[in-house]
Amino acid sequence: MKRIHLLAGFFTIQTLLVSAQTTQSLVENTVTYKGVQAKIEFFASDEMAGRDTPSDEQRIAAKYLATRMKEWGVSKAPGMEAYLQEVKFKNITPPEEGSLIAKDSSYILGQDILLLDGAASNLEAKVVFLDYGNEEDFEKANLKNKIVVVRLGAKGEPNVRKAFGVGREKRARAEEKGALALIELYSSTQISWKIIKRYLGGSSMSLDTGEGDESGIPHLWLDDSGGGGAEFFKSLKKAKLSIDGATIDRFTAPNVIGFVEGENPELKDEIVIYSAHYDHIGIGKPDAKGDSIYNGTRDNCIGTITVLEAAHNIVNHPLDRSALFIFFTGEEKGLLGSKWYVDHPVMPLKDVVMCFNSDNAGYNDTTVTTIVGLNRTTASQAFITAGNTYGLETIPDQMPEQNLFDRSDQVSFAKKGIPGVMFTMGITAFDDEILKYYHQAGDSPESVDFDYLYRFTKTYVHACRLVGNMPETPFWTEGDKYYEVGEGLYKKSQ
Ligand SMILES: [Zn+2]
Repeated sequence: MKRIHLLAGFFTIQTLLVSAQTTQSLVENTVTYKGVQAKIEFFASDEMAGRDTPSDEQRIAAKYLATRMKEWGVSKAPGMEAYLQEVKFKNITPPEEGSLIAKDSSYILGQDILLLDGAASNLEAKVVFLDYGNEEDFEKANLKNKIVVVRLGAKGEPNVRKAFGVGREKRARAEEKGALALIELYSSTQISWKIIKRYLGGSSMSLDTGEGDESGIPHLWLDDSGGGGAEFFKSLKKAKLSIDGATIDRFTAPNVIGFVEGENPELKDEIVIYSAHYDHIGIGKPDAKGDSIYNGTRDNCIGTITVLEAAHNIVNHPLDRSALFIFFTGEEKGLLGSKWYVDHPVMPLKDVVMCFNSDNAGYNDTTVTTIVGLNRTTASQAFITAGNTYGLETIPDQMPEQNLFDRSDQVSFAKKGIPGVMFTMGITAFDDEILKYYHQAGDSPESVDFDYLYRFTKTYVHACRLVGNMPETPFWTEGDKYYEVGEGLYKKSQ
């Protein structure tokens, strides 16, 4: 008996060793040093002009990813007619000219007043002051053809971020009651008017969700940091508002998506997403050398190529689970490509068991790989094993203060309940070595260590294989902030 036991143990260890070796040889079957280097040198080349959203060069980059996947036999996602998923964006530039004239005070647009939303207007109308403008305040008021003035946000709630949402509700109420404009008195001490002015004064890009309200009544914030606004507007009879409308550009840019079906009948209905954002920030201010092309080699050509190499590897050697490869656009504009994706998924989100995202700010330690969220899911061993295979130690995020988890695309999935991690190069601090390249023109292919990147890429592909084949379905570790929303997502499906 003892002997048999020993033998059984021996076989288990043998099997594990063989399977580790097999995974490594399968990885090295398709991932080559020259292949990684050539792809990076092309994808981050000056000709790609920094892959800004939107740009012709980004479209060429998308086409390149789709073409390689097609060439290797990676399928389009079921039900998709193309590898590209067009994401709808809008870019809003605030108007330059406008003013509000009340008694002998005049408020100038861009200085004393800011337009949050709404069409061009030129009107003179009676003014009604509605305190905080809560539901009750609005209910009893006659607002037909009037300018409504209210205090910012909700009573007892100093959070400016929340005031944006509350303000939109007020505007809807005002519009419903036939008002011509809504003005909120900005007196917050949480964020100064100066900062708000800078934030709202420039153009901003967002998803075009079809909830366009640029054509509605103007919604303005008025600088009341000196106080006294409420008293003034309470006693005011009339005001004159003339304002140009915002300029809105609408456009699309693509997410790129490919699919490889799993081979295990028990597990192939589970999908693992392997993702990376392929956009960067385009052309900008020249650096000391006169270079104005922000190549985005680290951020995030390298992440893109790790996922592309995973697609190449997995289509040649499919996994137990199905694999969905997604290259996101618009990450640098506020994770917009992944936000769009989770609201327009090409396969049901409840079938996705993990988002294994690959994104980078830079690296300052070539002996390690970093997994942001390493201990937050039950898949951590897969990442550690993969790193060990290529002589890289796997470390968790060293800079919790940077909130890296919330700054890349996996968070869009986490918010829906899907376990996510971010695979990233060895980074131990946001130090000078990182800042030298992070969002700088010098982040070019000549500046990277290809020996390290080769091992790093193999580690990613190896980990992809382990996650796609792990017998247990990965999930959040207990107590994680997304544990419950995860339970909700997957329970709904049963
Ligand atoms: Zn970036």
